[in-house]
Amino acid sequence: MSSTAEKHTFQAEVNEVLSLVVNSLYSHREVFLRELISNAADALDQLNFRALTEHDLLGDDKELRIELVRDEAAGTLTIRDNGIGMTRDELIGNLGTIARSGSKKLMQSLSAEQKKDVSLIGQFGVGFYSAFLVADAVTVTSRKAGSDEAWTWRSEAKGDFEIQPAERNERGTDITLHLKDDCKEYLQEWPVRDVVRKYSDYVRWPIRMQVERTTGEGDDKKTETETVTLNQARALWTRPKSEIDDDAYKEFYKSLSHDWNDPLAWTHFKVEGTHELTGLLYLPQKAPFDLVDRSKSGVKLFVKRVFIMDDAQEIVPEWARFVRGVVDSEDLPLNVSREILQKDATTRFIKKQVVNKTLSLLEELAAEDAPEGESGRYDTFYREFSRNLKEGVYHQHDARERLAKLLRFHTTHRPEGSDDDTLTGFADYVARMPAEQKSIYYVAADSLAAAKASPHIEALQKHGFEVLLMTETIDEWVVDALREFDGKPLVSAAKGALDLPESEEDKEKKEAREKELRPVLERVQKALDEHVKTVRLTDRLTDSPACLVSEEGAMSARQERVLREAGHDLPEQKRILELNPEHTVVQKLQNLADDSRFTDWAALLYDQALLAEGSLPSDPAAFSRRLTDLMANG
Ligand code: ADP
Repeated sequence: MSSTAEKHTFQAEVNEVLSLVVNSLYSHREVFLRELISNAADALDQLNFRALTEHDLLGDDKELRIELVRDEAAGTLTIRDNGIGMTRDELIGNLGTIARSGSKKLMQSLSAEQKKDVSLIGQFGVGFYSAFLVADAVTVTSRKAGSDEAWTWRSEAKGDFEIQPAERNERGTDITLHLKDDCKEYLQEWPVRDVVRKYSDYVRWPIRMQVERTTGEGDDKKTETETVTLNQARALWTRPKSEIDDDAYKEFYKSLSHDWNDPLAWTHFKVEGTHELTGLLYLPQKAPFDLVDRSKSGVKLFVKRVFIMDDAQEIVPEWARFVRGVVDSEDLPLNVSREILQKDATTRFIKKQVVNKTLSLLEELAAEDAPEGESGRYDTFYREFSRNLKEGVYHQHDARERLAKLLRFHTTHRPEGSDDDTLTGFADYVARMPAEQKSIYYVAADSLAAAKASPHIEALQKHGFEVLLMTETIDEWVVDALREFDGKPLVSAAKGALDLPESEEDKEKKEAREKELRPVLERVQKALDEHVKTVRLTDRLTDSPACLVSEEGAMSARQERVLREAGHDLPEQKRILELNPEHTVVQKLQNLADDSRFTDWAALLYDQALLAEGSLPSDPAAFSRRLTDLMANG
């Protein structure tokens, strides 16, 4: 360490990401070049964008480019760009910490075993640290555009890095890799050319390298150096689809998202007419770690091939923040700012296109998957991103119908060969509905097991009516927003009346029962007056003695609980207690003369109805006392 160098330690999570990258990607180490070139291209994009308004920024160094410099004697490969550069603080911040809080949290939550899993890399992004796949030491020298200071960052990835003042004549960044002994092939022309061709051909800036050419024979033999451009240097999305193969699309996605996995699917489109734009949008296979960050979108905005901004939220609705890609507009002004974007009509048009193309792509994938939800690409997508689509139903009114068709739920319908985990959509549900069934039934609970065991669906199942099993918190709000599908009302098994088909004979029997049990219902009502609104006979139970239901249109107990947990102050809503007239317990109640025993039984019925829906008894101590008494007497 020289006298002027300052030593800094890496943030703990950096060490972990570093070892995750280095250990798990070792056999794919050639990706380092894609990652570093992609960072260099981003630095050029950012400079180019700032130069639109800061006219002196480029100075005499106007030709933006990436250079690869091989130094055989020193054993180094340098990736050089004349882009935006980094200040001292940026070098420390960008290369020594993980600024993204989601990434840090995720890293902290992983077990040692999970940290060995390669697929996780996709969630972090490979990035700069991939330099250590091929280098045992990395030196980064950078000068920020507009500044005359340069700084060098150096690390051997052993937990710390050094930073010290440096000399650099022009703005930009040099990333110098001190190649490991078994990576010396990257000092040769062809291995480097091959890797650039394979992974970075679509980079929109020229990638140059000096090569030696020998001409002549004997005494005339001459070795000259010449500079060659290694890539086509044309943005991928501007090329005709017919010229782009799947591998190029995949590599472009990886460099754009720093995802380690291939994309699940993509759509490359051109819109012409009053507004013109080109878009290339991707769906990831796995939810990236920062999906929770609502302010991010993974779409870059370009205007006439000039990069304008990352994470352009103005052109992607929040629910669709899983989409990665680029949109290149011909109509927006080059000096467009976030403020202009927010008000501009073109922005709204672009956003509409992004939504439309994303939905079309999802619809295509959904059509590809077998109707019984056999795990195809759509199933993979849905299991990662279902919440986003549901948010879309809630917020994106003009796409509600299309989104509703894309929703999938667990269900009581079990086709042969399927398992518990099979998902179904509303359209398939409707197609299976028997003629006498008028509504789409669902039940919401905290887990799949609880939903399946819910007493509320007993009679529905006996009638052979399928019930959708909803387990995500957002589900009930989604259903409230939708209200119906294809003209069929969405009906909660735990709300209002179920309107099950019944014969005249059944009706008469029910009326007679009601008359007979009226005194019991009134006594139960009196005993539970402080808790329940009414007590009535049920038509939804077959095996359980009692259940609690909400009024049609009211919030469910679960929704209330979720809101209370989120800090909302909701008044207690009394619900309806339904009793099963066929159940022995209810019949026994009829003959229970002793008032205090009757009150205990009524309270127990109420508490077990709460338990069955996943709530706690109103007074747990009283509940256990009553239960113990009952057992002692039984
Ligand atoms: P990511 O690119 O996903 O943000 P990286 O680890 O690859 O993560 O890079 C971290 C940050 O370092 C980048 O976001 C960028 O700000 C900065 N950086 C990396 N390479 C360069 C470069 N060649 N020029 C300027 N900044 C760079």
